[in-house]
Amino acid sequence: MSSTQSREIVIIGGGIIGCTTAYYLSCHPSSTSAKIILIEASEHGPAQGASGKAGGLVAKWAYPRELVDISFSEHVKLAQEHNGKDRWGWRFVGCGSWEGKGEVSPSEAELGTGVGRGGTKKSLEKTFGLVSDDGVIRDTKVRKSKGLPDDLLWVKDDLTDSYSPMATEGGTAQVHPYQFTTSMFDLAKENGVAYINGRVKSVTQADGKVTGIEYVEPTTNETKTIPASQVILAAGAWSPKIIPQLPISATRAHSITIHPKPSITISPYVLFTEITLPSTNSQRGKIVSPEIYARPDNEVYACGPGDDSLLPETVDDVLVDEAACDSIHKHVASISQELREGTVDKRQACFLPIVSSGGGPIVGEASTIAKGLYIATGHTCWGICNAPGTARAITELVMDGKIKCANLKKLSPSVLL
Ligand SMILES: Cc1cc2nc3c(=O)[nH]c(=O)nc-3n(C[C@H](O)[C@H](O)[C@H](O)COP(=O)(O)OP(=O)(O)OC[C@H]3O[C@@H](n4cnc5c(N)ncnc54)[C@H](O)[C@@H]3O)c2cc1C
Repeated sequence: MSSTQSREIVIIGGGIIGCTTAYYLSCHPSSTSAKIILIEASEHGPAQGASGKAGGLVAKWAYPRELVDISFSEHVKLAQEHNGKDRWGWRFVGCGSWEGKGEVSPSEAELGTGVGRGGTKKSLEKTFGLVSDDGVIRDTKVRKSKGLPDDLLWVKDDLTDSYSPMATEGGTAQVHPYQFTTSMFDLAKENGVAYINGRVKSVTQADGKVTGIEYVEPTTNETKTIPASQVILAAGAWSPKIIPQLPISATRAHSITIHPKPSITISPYVLFTEITLPSTNSQRGKIVSPEIYARPDNEVYACGPGDDSLLPETVDDVLVDEAACDSIHKHVASISQELREGTVDKRQACFLPIVSSGGGPIVGEASTIAKGLYIATGHTCWGICNAPGTARAITELVMDGKIKCANLKKLSPSVLL
C-alpha cells in the first residue's frame, strides 16, 4: 500500500499487545491518513485478561532475545516520556531466586497447591530465559553463596536456605501491568484511535486480501462489520477462535494482591521461590513455587502455577477458584510475617497465550492466510516485557512495509504457522 492511500486499521484485542500497538501506530507519521480502531470483547474495557493480572516483570534476561533487546529500551523510553514512575509504577527492582522452608500455624491444616480446580499443574516457564547472556549471574555456586540482601527484610532469615540474584543491577525492572495497559490505551485514544466494544467473530477477506472484520455488538447482539485494509490480531489466548490455523494454546494461572499493614515498607524485590512446606495432617511436606512481586504503594502481587483448564468464551467468563487463591496466600505467608498479616485484596485468574509448537511469540504478516492480516500473539509469560518491541515491529511492518528495528524472522507466521 502506498503511503498516500488511506488505511483502515483494526486491532483486535485490548490487552497489552493490542493497546501498546494502538499507541505506537498512532505515533507514526502516516497515522494522519489512517483510521485506527481498537476492538475489545470485554464489557469492562481493556486489560481484563492476562495483561491486567500479570506480575509485571520487565527483564533483560527474558526471551526471545531479539524482542527483549528492543522492548527493554522502549520500556525505559516510554517511562521517561510519560512519567511511567507515577503513571504505571515503573522502577528497577532486585530479582532473585529464594529457597527455604515455610512455616505454618497448626490451624492451617490444608495448604493446597495453588493450582485451580479442573486443571493439571503447568509451569509458567519464566526462568527459562536464564541462559548464558551478558549481565546474568549464572554460576550456581557463586549465587548460592550469597545471602539475603540487606534490605530484603520481608522474608524470614531463619527460613532462608539461599538467595541468588538472577541478574545484575539494572537488569530487571517492573511495571504495574493494568496501569501500563490502560495508559497505552488512553494515550492511543488521545492520539485519535477509536474504540469499539464488541466480540470479533471473523476476519473477512476477498481475493486473498483482508477486507474487514465481523463482530457481535454486545447491547443488540447483532453482527456488524467494519471495513479494514489491515487487521492486527492481538486477542491473546483467544486468537485461534478467530484464526483457527494459529498454534496457540491457553494456560490459566491464579494470582492475588496483598496489602501489608500501612506501617510496613516492602522493599522492591521480585522473588522466584522454592518453599518446602512442613508436613501437615493431610499432606506430606512438598515444594511450592509462588512468584512474589513487591510493587510501589506497598502492594504485593503473588501468583501460583499454571493449569490447563478450558478457555471460556470471553475474558469476562474466566472462573476464579477461591481455593487456589487461598493456597497462594498461605504459601507466601509461610515465609513472611508481613504477607501473613496483610490483607488479601484481589483474587483473580487469567489465561496466557502459549505457542503450542514451541518458541514464539508470533509476530508478523500472515500473508498465506490473507494479505493485510498481522499476528501479534503467543507471548507466553513475557508479554508485559515484550509488548513495546512487538508494537514497534508491527507498526513498522504495517506502516512502512518492513520491520526495521530488529530481525524477527524467527517469529514470523511463515515460520511458526
Ligand atoms: C500469572 C501470570 C503472571 C505473568 N507475569 C508476567 C510478567 O511478570 N512479565 C511479563 O512480561 N509477562 C507476564 N505474564 C504474561 C503476560 O501477562 C501475557 O503474555 C500478556 O498479558 C499477553 O497479552 P495479550 O495482549 O496478548 O493478551 P490478553 O491480555 O489476554 O489480551 C487479549 C485481549 O483480547 C480480547 N479478545 C479476545 N477475543 C476477542 C475477540 N474475539 N474480539 C475482541 N477482543 C477479544 C480479550 O478480551 C483480551 O482483553 C504473566 C502471565 C500470567 C498469567
